[in-house]
Amino acid sequence: MKITVFLGAPGSGKGTQAKRLAESFGYRHLSTGDMLRLAISQKTPIGLKAKSYLDSGNLVPDFIMIELIRNTLSGFVDPVPKRILLDGFPRTLAQAEALDSQAETAVSLAVFFNVSEDILLKRLTGRRICSKCGASFHTIFMPFQASACAQHCKGEHLTQRTDDSEELAKHRLKVFSEQTAPLLEYYESRGRLARLDGSRSIGQVQADMVKIIDSDQK
Ligand code: AMP
Repeated sequence: MKITVFLGAPGSGKGTQAKRLAESFGYRHLSTGDMLRLAISQKTPIGLKAKSYLDSGNLVPDFIMIELIRNTLSGFVDPVPKRILLDGFPRTLAQAEALDSQAETAVSLAVFFNVSEDILLKRLTGRRICSKCGASFHTIFMPFQASACAQHCKGEHLTQRTDDSEELAKHRLKVFSEQTAPLLEYYESRGRLARLDGSRSIGQVQADMVKIIDSDQK
């Protein structure tokens, strides 16, 4: 099992690129944010424990997250995916060390999506998601009017993530710089970090990401 992680602040585009990479390179994409939101909507024990943290823009405690990822990774059977892409995990040094502490889950490459704070804030507060088909849009950068979703779902299910309000978005960016940014040094000092400019268009970022992934596979 080869493990690649996408690192980046909320709104840096790692989720969008992770979906594209999963489609084109056959990665199994695991987004811990999506896993937690599903657990919350299904009111599972993990969902009930995690809800207040997501609602306040804070990180879910490490012991919950590490167990969630360990169970997910060890639960793959027949076929065990060859390539896993972690999107949103690790977010703390303890999480990074937990992955590296076992040979089969050690991270081979971390890709950092570098985006300035003012762009991140604009991206987060303008983000809209269709709760019916899952498509995601932006009030300025990616209007939904011209999309297939506009025809099928008619805009009746467009929602804003509660943690994308301006106040919570700012808080999540602070949490990123305090708790997750130290991971850049962690992976860099181990020769496993690649950086890309995440402020460019989705297509340009994708081209850079593909180059990085390609050279990692050689
Ligand atoms: P995301 O969709 O990646 O922006 O994650 C949404 C929220 O889920 C975060 O603000 C955290 O509350 C929680 N979360 C997701 N991944 C993690 C993680 N690896 N560690 C702690 N909390 C997480």
